Amino acid sequence: MNLEEGKAVIKPLLSEKRYRHSVNVSREAVRLAKKYGADPQKAETAGILHDCMKDLPADKQLKSMEQFGIILTDVEKAGKKLWHAILGAAYIEKVLGVTDLEVLTAVRYHTTGRAGMSLLEKVIFVADFTSADRDYPGVDRMRKKADADLDAAILEGTAFTIGELLDGGWAVHPDTVNLYNETVLKLAEKK
Ligand code: FE
Ligand code: FE
Repeated sequence: MNLEEGKAVIKPLLSEKRYRHSVNVSREAVRLAKKYGADPQKAETAGILHDCMKDLPADKQLKSMEQFGIILTDVEKAGKKLWHAILGAAYIEKVLGVTDLEVLTAVRYHTTGRAGMSLLEKVIFVADFTSADRDYPGVDRMRKKADADLDAAILEGTAFTIGELLDGGWAVHPDTVNLYNETVLKLAEKK
């Protein structure tokens, strides 16, 4: 699927703001892919599609996941924000016919991350934090890290996400904890 096809697919599914975010993530993912040696074509596709289910109402997301036979863990059931990634991967595979496993997993893990991520998964995970539309406090720092070392950006991103979850009293997905731990240990080794 090329960029134009991807745009046409997501346009009717998303708000204008989310549509623009998706285009920006796609663009940023291509940039990072070229910089770090991932496949730019796959980065473009995964980037444009990564949030395709995000604006579907929560009850419909849940229903769709049931129809796809997806079984959620208790932490996933409690974390509505995780649903669009899990459903998104199933949707692009089963409805859009995306067969590339790397693209599917990049979409699947773009929110939680996981230990042992492929380069493409890392690129999408980080691009979602550093796309041009992002303006949270600390985004400049995050962009600098993304340009210096993907793993450093992942550490920053997972620490930020876990911090927010702790502050809010929410459960933390084990995949995110595993990615955080893996990255801390990996960066300690690099020093
Ligand atoms: Fe997302
Ligand atoms: Fe996103």
